[in-house]
Amino acid sequence: MRTASLALALALALQSAYSFSFPAVHSQRVCGVTGASSLPSFRCNAVGSSKTFLKSSKNWEFDHQASLTPKYWGDLARKNLDWFKDFSITTSGGFESGDVKWFEDGQLNACYNALDRHILAGKGDKVAIIYEADEAGDVTEMTYKQTLDRVSQIANMMKSEGVKKGDVVTVYMPMTPDVILTMLACARIGAVHSVVFAGFSEDAIADRIAAANSKFVFTTNVGLRGGKTIKLKQTVDNAIAKDRAKAIVEKVFLFKRTEEEVNFVEGRDIWADELLAKQSTTCEAEVMDAEDPLFILYTSGSTGSPKGILHTTGGYSLYAMHTTKTSFDLRDDDIYACVADAGWITGHTYICYGPLLNGATTTVFESTPLYPDEGRYWDMVERLKINVFYTAPTAIRSLMRFGDESPKKYDLSSLRVLGSVGEPINPAAWDWYHNVIGGGKATVVDTYWQTETGGHVACNLPGIHVAKAGSCRGGTYGIDMGILDAQTGEEQVGNDVDGVLVIKKPWPGMARTVLGDHERFMTTYLKPYPGNYFAGDGARRDEDGYIWVTGRTDDVINSSGHRIGSAEVESALVATDEVAQAAVVGFPHDIKGEGIACYVTLNNGVEMSDDMKKSLKMAVRSSIGPFATPDMIINAPALPMTRSGKIMRRILRKIAGGENEFGDTSTLADPSCVPVLVENARN
Ligand code: ATP
Ligand code: MG
Repeated sequence: MRTASLALALALALQSAYSFSFPAVHSQRVCGVTGASSLPSFRCNAVGSSKTFLKSSKNWEFDHQASLTPKYWGDLARKNLDWFKDFSITTSGGFESGDVKWFEDGQLNACYNALDRHILAGKGDKVAIIYEADEAGDVTEMTYKQTLDRVSQIANMMKSEGVKKGDVVTVYMPMTPDVILTMLACARIGAVHSVVFAGFSEDAIADRIAAANSKFVFTTNVGLRGGKTIKLKQTVDNAIAKDRAKAIVEKVFLFKRTEEEVNFVEGRDIWADELLAKQSTTCEAEVMDAEDPLFILYTSGSTGSPKGILHTTGGYSLYAMHTTKTSFDLRDDDIYACVADAGWITGHTYICYGPLLNGATTTVFESTPLYPDEGRYWDMVERLKINVFYTAPTAIRSLMRFGDESPKKYDLSSLRVLGSVGEPINPAAWDWYHNVIGGGKATVVDTYWQTETGGHVACNLPGIHVAKAGSCRGGTYGIDMGILDAQTGEEQVGNDVDGVLVIKKPWPGMARTVLGDHERFMTTYLKPYPGNYFAGDGARRDEDGYIWVTGRTDDVINSSGHRIGSAEVESALVATDEVAQAAVVGFPHDIKGEGIACYVTLNNGVEMSDDMKKSLKMAVRSSIGPFATPDMIINAPALPMTRSGKIMRRILRKIAGGENEFGDTSTLADPSCVPVLVENARN
């Protein structure tokens, strides 16, 4: 489907290709990838004219082919990780049987690899963590040595209170370094962390405690976010008061973020700061089998009830490390900032494990993009001289609404790589990110992946691929990505095809199971298209071989026989001057089969009216074609978002279809927008 919005995307892509012909921000660094001995040496070729890009592109294909072998991962694992015991089997099992394993007879420890290994290599005084607290400019740095000391103390404290290898530890903490250190301390002693995003309700915590039979909980008296105090301990107390959690929880480790007093249950609660201060700063790292669980983490719940995804030690660590290095072209002296929350997979892989396994400097950001004002990210970029910045399109769009003045106040010239994650980035947001934030020079890397994939599975690699705005390009190292016909399962080879997105070969970072429900793992991911991992997303491969994620397969709208990707209609709407955010869904329609309902959040100061509705319908019609003309434009002052910032389209479908029952809404950030949308959909 050729469309004006894609034409815009291509125009932007050309712009981006063009930017390669100028010296990059840090031109002296363009060719060097410090310490990246595992990376191909041809990457420098990509920086220059489009001619050299084509050359590197051929090299990329060669290199990518080589990465689709177990040998590639075996070599990398031996080179970049320290093993207590080498492995003899690189990989075994498969998609059909649902028993994929990597490095199964090898032994290692993820925390040892993230901290000790770098200290032993002489990097003990390097800054591991920069903590940007809630108040702008309240910054603390921790070296690798200081980080290991505190991690060891937390680990020793856990052991002294009876936490053992294999126990599941629930972590409900704010974004201070302690959440990262607690995860690492769990890894150090072989406990399995289950981090619950600190915005979740007591019910969500109780469910996760019960599902994992988690006897230990880590929390903080309160959290601080955007100047507000969040009563975390109280929520934990309420969660544990519920029958399903009460009988399970034995100990609650309690950190202090402020001096605020909270309820303290004698015999169960432990003041963590006091107890760990008494602990030794030495704690031997537990010897773990490569396939021992590292953590449990729930998906966002966008499409149904959240799935408790299990990741294991060896494969996940290697994959987190390698994708952080390659997707962001991470360099040894980079200041790296991923502003996600530790409670999501992005926080696990790209704040904690990925950067630290690479010996990099990672930032822990406690605040919000709007505190004290909409310039917070850019102020932080200027102060900390951030080189690699990673956020989500939803954040970019919400900041775009305020215009260009705010970012223009700050010196953003340190930025070299700008990552995007969570949903397709629409061309208008891509353009703003690239030009206004990245000064037209920083590379926008669109990273496509899932909680289940452990790390990026598709992206444009900086210095190797030319970016196209809105496309995640294709499979990264080790990822054999394919597009299948949704009905027949037949592979759609060649370009200019669409269908469902699959991965054709196991990769080290893939989830091994859904907690307590291996059958759900099989039926969701491995059985729909036997021999493939099914991502649940639809995709199109364009004439250049670039992959465009068109949305969840459930989100493809079939209107009068046309298959219309929700992402495409959303892009057309957001490209207008009036729309800040859009969510498009299908709903049952007597004549067309499915009608197109567009929920739009208008820019500040723009009012919804009948004329506005008409003009937005026209914008989609002229951008995509008459067959995509929306049936409904619904004013959406706010959209139902999951707490990880994704639009819960299944609710929007139900509203547009006139239903009143909305299913599992436990991961919804703010349910109060739902009745407003129900009302607006009727008008
Ligand atoms: P659930 O699986 O519970 O419905 P979820 O899929 O939203 O929730 P996540 O693992 O947080 O849970 O999100 C992964 C999904 O996010 C992907 O399957 C895809 O639909 C979307 N996604 C992530 N990154 C991108 C991207 N760069 N481009 C397009 N889509 C993306
Ligand atoms: Mg999903």
